[in-house]
Amino acid sequence: MRCPYCYSDNDGVRDSRIVEDGKAIRRRRFCNQCRRRFTTYERVEGLLQVRKRDGTHQDFSRAKIELGLRAACWKRTISGEDVEKLAAEIESHILDNYEKEVSSEEIGKLCMEFLKEVDQVAFVRFASVYRSFGDAQDFVDELTPILKPRPKTKKKRPAK
Ligand SMILES: [Zn+2]
Repeated sequence: MRCPYCYSDNDGVRDSRIVEDGKAIRRRRFCNQCRRRFTTYERVEGLLQVRKRDGTHQDFSRAKIELGLRAACWKRTISGEDVEKLAAEIESHILDNYEKEVSSEEIGKLCMEFLKEVDQVAFVRFASVYRSFGDAQDFVDELTPILKPRPKTKKKRPAK
């Protein structure tokens, strides 16, 4: 496991335990390089299914959420670490609230709710990322009332 602080691949496991009613194993690790501690979770794959708009299902993936968030937060002041934390929070919220299945709309809404708290620009971007997947008309509809129209700033152009 790569250390999230110094990125070296030299860690040790201090403690492992089953959490979330047996759905995951939490391992407390420490880095032999920088001596810092971090925690990882192992989960059974395919436990939670995501129902897409077209009716198909796929395994829930935090990595995908993280990718979406990362794209939304590109060049913003949010650190990679914060994006990971955000994805973990969203995942934990989903795992707490959905047993077998969650719709892609719900996931998108959650991501937007969480992002909105963190960064307004990232939040708007996230909405447009989803829109580009063509799986998001619902998101956009949900989003429109939330987004307040911004006052347009007119740039003064030099007269030609
Ligand atoms: Zn380290």
